[in-house]
Amino acid sequence: MRVVTTLPELRRVRRGLPEPVGFVPTMGYLHQGHLSLVRMARRECASVVVSIFVNPTQFGPNEDYTQYPRDLPRDLALLEKEGVDLVWTPTPEVMYPQGFQTWVTVEKLTQVLEGAHRPGHFRGVTTVVTKLFNAVQPQRAYFGQKDAQQARVIQQMTRDLNLPIAIIVGPTVREPDGLALSSRNTYLNPQERRAATVLYRALSAARRAFEQGERDAETLRRIMLEVLAQESLARVQYVSCADPETLEELHGPVEKALLSMAVFIGKTRLIDNMLVGMGRETFPPYIPEEQWTVDSEQ
Ligand code: AMP
Repeated sequence: MRVVTTLPELRRVRRGLPEPVGFVPTMGYLHQGHLSLVRMARRECASVVVSIFVNPTQFGPNEDYTQYPRDLPRDLALLEKEGVDLVWTPTPEVMYPQGFQTWVTVEKLTQVLEGAHRPGHFRGVTTVVTKLFNAVQPQRAYFGQKDAQQARVIQQMTRDLNLPIAIIVGPTVREPDGLALSSRNTYLNPQERRAATVLYRALSAARRAFEQGERDAETLRRIMLEVLAQESLARVQYVSCADPETLEELHGPVEKALLSMAVFIGKTRLIDNMLVGMGRETFPPYIPEEQWTVDSEQ
């Protein structure tokens, strides 16, 4: 496994990698959620590249950029065991040189949900992912359903910019009690950690109601809010029942939906989601036209 920091090194090692190249962008402090994406890439691609970069431009001024957990030696040991070929650990100076002033923005999809509560967040995400894609030039890139809106936004950006990259979405990996794995779970004290299962319980209650025939969007949102209200450590930022493609809030009867929420447990902001009515756990992949084949998974 090669580990590189500078762009010239990255480009040189990348040129020698057998294709297709699968790419998993991360902010490090890796857990089984990240590793599940690495394993998908390993199964499907001839080479696997992982980036580790805590991207300053996707954090708001009052967010946790400086406190975000970091442990590079541990991350590298985990990636080595997964048979990763190349790890890129760029510095902020490589990604944002003096005088940087070019941004990539996806307009509508970023106005709602996370975008409505974290101004500038997706501009930071789409800009850094574009730069990572340009440098790594993968054929396939892997994102987690855990960050559902991020996955949709990246698919939209890839399509709008005609990037020749398939965007694959892997299922959310959870703790045995349902809590979605997240690097930020490390902020939770034991009492908060127990309370944090309320997101999964609220989503599961709404999914169960949907499976039993409940179709009203407002009722599905109310079911989630009722479960969340029972947890005194939980402060709800939003609860949503949205169209899985446009991410617009739904009203009246729904056939399929992205149920999602952002909830503060103490000072820690957690997000989670579930798809209903889709017959699948994750968003379908985005496959660029030049990669269409008769047997491609569409
Ligand atoms: P991050 O390091 O938080 O930027 O996450 C890197 C990638 O891992 C993103 O595509 C996330 O959606 C994905 N990811 C994070 N947590 C999970 C999880 N619990 N299950 C699946 N994928 C995840």
